[in-house]
Amino acid sequence: MDYKDLAELIFPEVKDISYYEEKYPRRELKEGAIVTRYAPSPTGVMHIGGLYQALISKKVALQTQGVYFLRIEDTDQKREIENGTMEIIKSLKSFNIESDEGMTSETESKGNYGPYKQSERKEIYQAYAKHLISQGKAYPCFCRAEDVEQIREKQENAKIRPGYYGVWAKCRNNTVEEMAQKIKNGENYIIRFKSPGREDKKIKHKDVIKGNVEFPENDQDIVIIKADGLPTYHFAHCIDDHLMGTTHVIRGDEWLSSVPLHLQLFYELGFKAPKYAHIAPIMKNDNGNKRKLSKRKDPEAAVSYYEKEGIPADAVEEYLLNIANSTFENWRRANKDKDISEFELQLNKMSVSGALFDMVKLLDVGKTVISKYTAEEVYNKSLEWAKKYDKELEEMLQDKEYSLKIFSIERGNAKPRKDIAKWSDVKDSIIYMYNKKYEGKEVTHENQVINNKEEIEKILKLYIEKYYNESDDKQTWFDKIKELAGELGYAKEVKEFKANPDKYKAHVGDVSTVLRVALTGRTNTPDLYEIMKVLGKETIRDRFSLFHK
Ligand code: GLU
Repeated sequence: MDYKDLAELIFPEVKDISYYEEKYPRRELKEGAIVTRYAPSPTGVMHIGGLYQALISKKVALQTQGVYFLRIEDTDQKREIENGTMEIIKSLKSFNIESDEGMTSETESKGNYGPYKQSERKEIYQAYAKHLISQGKAYPCFCRAEDVEQIREKQENAKIRPGYYGVWAKCRNNTVEEMAQKIKNGENYIIRFKSPGREDKKIKHKDVIKGNVEFPENDQDIVIIKADGLPTYHFAHCIDDHLMGTTHVIRGDEWLSSVPLHLQLFYELGFKAPKYAHIAPIMKNDNGNKRKLSKRKDPEAAVSYYEKEGIPADAVEEYLLNIANSTFENWRRANKDKDISEFELQLNKMSVSGALFDMVKLLDVGKTVISKYTAEEVYNKSLEWAKKYDKELEEMLQDKEYSLKIFSIERGNAKPRKDIAKWSDVKDSIIYMYNKKYEGKEVTHENQVINNKEEIEKILKLYIEKYYNESDDKQTWFDKIKELAGELGYAKEVKEFKANPDKYKAHVGDVSTVLRVALTGRTNTPDLYEIMKVLGKETIRDRFSLFHK
């Protein structure tokens, strides 16, 4: 009896690995093309960190004319949730991170390197496990959970490194005959990798993001095939990334310490190892402390948060690139109108310790992104959001023509309005454009420079009676406000007022504020001239008349 017979006894049905090596030929891509994947486990709500990984994986593949695929890692079936795969696919789609290849629904996929769901690749993993067993590089282990627990306790008591390795790896020393006999006796087993490593030796490795790292060699005989016949992550990812032709494994840095094991597995399997790029988690500033963005504590950690808030996907995407590469900000400054696809992301420029996530900045990016949309786009996108999340806004947007007039205010020019960061801001930012919504609203000039009731009355009355003319162009409109200011003893220019503050009651800007507040209830709005144009004389008159008899 030799290793080959043992392998045959354990996996009599599986194919030889040459079958798979032929079935999945090396990809024919141009020199330098990068093949990446996003490989989530369908175990719960999608996290912004996952989206970040997916975005980066897709971006580097795209910019080198490579391939980016989606693989579902569902070998831990206890942790799986229903429709987990579909949720991931939907989230990726809504953020424009769809894959070139891989799962497209709970059961379907596209591409020639499938199946792209690990639970459907059982016999492939078993073929490679068989291959290792036949070379004496893996073996059946008959230790039960309680045996492993006992080993761990002993190690703990003796204060030595825990694990199944060296002298502790009881089953690695069974003879082939003993192993075969136990199997024939019907004993339960799992398959372990027989590590050739030594803990007192070091391996050096260059991670694409983390740079040079040094670790002790792996000497653990890790489980490669579990009792349910499915592989562990460690084993599965080696087989998959080999057969699927991944050139760069981009993943969370919780896996960095597994690199010695993974490189060893690749080597013993006779595969060329991919490059590894370990991404540090996204961090958050919590009252001065930098900590990981947490699924439990931070609502913004869940990808669904952005949709509910109505933060446009391209703003999130742009912001994530912003924190991925510090060079992005300069690039954006120099290329205001370019599409983000033109930005070249560099993995080796990513933060080693974790980029800081800042909601204020993200919303700022949101404002800029939305400011570049056409009125029609703003209309369509806010309506789409409103249909799901805000019935009142949906109703307000029913009159498309009027809505477009509102959204066109200060849009499409060199310095477009930047008052909307997310679709949930829209209602508040346009509500004063609707008489029904504005009616009965308490408006006060209390905190303004001009806050005297009679003075306000005078300004508004004189303006509407003498100076307002619907057909004035912007210059004339503004000149008239200046004239009004002059007539009532206010400086026509801010400059003049500053030079001689005692000579005037206040200046033209303060007079405009009176008009603005009376008309909209707020001090900060887009262009007042345009607002007046859209509201029309009747509404202006009605609103001003509330302040004078
Ligand atoms: N399924 C693993 C995880 O979700 C994937 C790690 C990898 O990308 O290789 O952490």
